[in-house]
Amino acid sequence: MPVSLTCPSCGNVINQMTRSPQMLVCPACNSTHLLNSGRLEDVGKSAILTDFPSIFELHHTFRHKDWKFTPVGRVRYDYGDGWWDEWFVRSDNGKESWVSVDEGEIAIEALVQKGVKVPSFDELKVGGSLIINRIKMKVIEKNSCTMVGAEGELPFKIAPNETYNYVDLLGPKRLSFTIEYQNDAIDCYKGVWIDPFDITRA
Ligand SMILES: [Zn+2]
Repeated sequence: MPVSLTCPSCGNVINQMTRSPQMLVCPACNSTHLLNSGRLEDVGKSAILTDFPSIFELHHTFRHKDWKFTPVGRVRYDYGDGWWDEWFVRSDNGKESWVSVDEGEIAIEALVQKGVKVPSFDELKVGGSLIINRIKMKVIEKNSCTMVGAEGELPFKIAPNETYNYVDLLGPKRLSFTIEYQNDAIDCYKGVWIDPFDITRA
């Protein structure tokens, strides 16, 4: 059963699309809300993200080869020299993953659920390598980023202007691996870089 929530800022009814969102942006007033025990808590206005043309759009279905997915949320991070978007997407079977879009480069990633031990942010150096589950990967980027806007619903809590550190790694066969360091939490995302021309509207 879809859950309906009422925006505390403007009274708009927001229909929840995913199993356990932790953050929702009201499409009517752009207020960003954290979801705490079924209640929405306003944490600030989100930037308007639709100013620039994008390959994806919320609540439309897209296809990459045999995989059909629908974006239900998006978060934009500024890394100083530009920004990239992380699209939170839902497959037909309910599986949730991420599609990252950075200046036309696209990676499909999913949260690594099992605890992976990774070095601290300070220990990793660009150009260095790291072996995770016997796969050797190279550190290609190390930076910090700021959340500048969001839309739809997201499975974690991040308020506008919050920052975190991240390390991007590249493995064989265009394997992508990202480590996010936010306060004491470390999240790893594993995926693959794909050819943007393989994406079509379903
Ligand atoms: Zn609202």
